[in-house]
Amino acid sequence: MSMDLNSLKEHYLRCVRCGQCRAVCPVFAGIGNETAAPRGKVFLAHMLAAGELKADAEIAHNLSLCLLCRACTRECPSAVPVHKIITAARSLLAREVPNTLQKIIFKEIWSRSSLLNISARLLRGCQNLGLTVLGRSMGMLPPALDLVGKLPRRPARSFISEVTRPEGAPRIKVGYFLGCATNLMFPHVARSTVAVLSLLGCEVITPRELKCCGLPQEENGQMDVAESLARSNFAAFQRLGSKAIVTDCASCFAALKDSSAFKDIEIMDLFQLLNGLLPGHNLKKIDRAITYHDPCHLAKAQGITAAPRELLTRICPGFREMPGANSCCGGGGSFMLYHYNTSMGILDKKISAIKETGAKIVTTSCPSCTMQIRHGLAKQGLPIPVIHPVELLAQTLGIIF
Ligand code: SF4
Ligand code: SF4
Repeated sequence: MSMDLNSLKEHYLRCVRCGQCRAVCPVFAGIGNETAAPRGKVFLAHMLAAGELKADAEIAHNLSLCLLCRACTRECPSAVPVHKIITAARSLLAREVPNTLQKIIFKEIWSRSSLLNISARLLRGCQNLGLTVLGRSMGMLPPALDLVGKLPRRPARSFISEVTRPEGAPRIKVGYFLGCATNLMFPHVARSTVAVLSLLGCEVITPRELKCCGLPQEENGQMDVAESLARSNFAAFQRLGSKAIVTDCASCFAALKDSSAFKDIEIMDLFQLLNGLLPGHNLKKIDRAITYHDPCHLAKAQGITAAPRELLTRICPGFREMPGANSCCGGGGSFMLYHYNTSMGILDKKISAIKETGAKIVTTSCPSCTMQIRHGLAKQGLPIPVIHPVELLAQTLGIIF
């Protein structure tokens, strides 16, 4: 999605400064400063575009104070797409006030699968040698590093074939977008997704050459890189004749849905697909209390809230709704890296809501939310696992790895 700040003029001019967006912004609630409010950031973006403010590090800092959770965009009575305006402003700032480290991470490393894999292996090696713990204890590494957790030995890419045949008669052929966080940090989720789809009659296509979905690049002002990644991923699915794609990552789903590169391929909601395929299959119900956190990229970005609940209530009679299930957990992709303390303040509310349910398992479908909530639960010494719904479904279908 190409987003030049000037092309959004008609949108930011619609802001009448009513302040309704302030009531739903988790960052504003934590900071309480007008520049951290959605309308404050829209105003800064407007001033930047008009040349009345000079792009500098302070403006870049103010515009980084956003989770891109889209609560404001959904709330705004004037239909101002606040998250798009902030993303476009970041893109302008990345050009005018380049941040070398950000560029190296998101443009040079994260967009190249080979370099990302090497970085993950290096990090894992450091974890094994205890260097990350040492670095953290000496204050040489950022606290956000704790969120990553212990990296698994093998990425999903190493054991998922490009084509996985269905069990029994084929019902549908579907492309599987294996996101980089799932691949490197949560390979067991990818394993469950492919196994469940295959058991339910899908031929699953997972192109070898898939790259990052582009969302981290877009959030960090590298819009051109994000667009190039989307084109490359589209070509990968086209090569294998995929007409429809699913993904188990809420953030990848939002990136694919928003991308103009994917306009000729249907991006299917995984939960809706699973709900449609399940009738006729025996499910061994989960007898523990579970609750569900709505990832912003699924609930607020795409309005998908009912399908995951339909699936979860089907497999778990002890499903419990948490208060504010669709409130942001404070992860926001790289937000927790830049603004750890603010992020933790937002997370505390989420953990309190989870505790209120008495649930023994938390489910969610976003790697960033999973890391964030897992971190918050561990900090409070709560032995509650954070599990993807497809992993629970795999258990109920009797899939054993
Ligand atoms: S709710 Fe919309 S119109 Fe009102 S201040 Fe916020 S962005 Fe502007
Ligand atoms: S996207 Fe979320 S964090 Fe960003 S300004 Fe809007 S409500 Fe606040």
